[in-house]
Amino acid sequence: MRRAIYPGSFDPVTFGHQDIIERSSAIFDELIVGVLNNSAKNSLFSLDERVSMLRELTKDIPNVKVDSFDGLLVDYMKTCGATIIVRGLRAVTDFEYELQIAQTNHVENPEVETVFLTTNLKYSYLSSSVVREFAAYGGDISKFVPAQFVDRIYGKSKIKK
Ligand code: ADP
Repeated sequence: MRRAIYPGSFDPVTFGHQDIIERSSAIFDELIVGVLNNSAKNSLFSLDERVSMLRELTKDIPNVKVDSFDGLLVDYMKTCGATIIVRGLRAVTDFEYELQIAQTNHVENPEVETVFLTTNLKYSYLSSSVVREFAAYGGDISKFVPAQFVDRIYGKSKIKK
């Protein structure tokens, strides 16, 4: 049984995240989408809102579960029995940081392996922070996020003129 975890902030979830979830759920027996409860970070959506949006998005993929965690990822992985971390790589700028984190996690727990999926070219420019920025200026975000979340994101964004 290969149980993997795809951790992130998902604030908000984008087509880039959705693509990684769909592709990795086809590779592993079970995929846990782990929403990070990062209290130091000023997030647009609360933890519960991010979890429920991801549950809505993945409801038709039977081997995907959505959960939240705080603290060290490797510690959470012990509690949920996952040994594989899935991360998306967009550009070389992601690489340096991701390599460091992957190696640190492996040192913390040698059973933990990180698997990288290269971004779908269509979404290589896309990040949650770009979506938040565009929404804040009233830009069209329908190309970046699933349709059911567009209004919720505008609703949370204070439109800057
Ligand atoms: P973001 O970087 O968009 O704020 P997260 O911190 O939630 O998102 O990132 C969670 C994971 O999703 C990371 O591995 C990140 O590289 C990956 N990811 C984010 N956006 C994309 C994308 N457009 N294509 C592929 N992977 C992505």
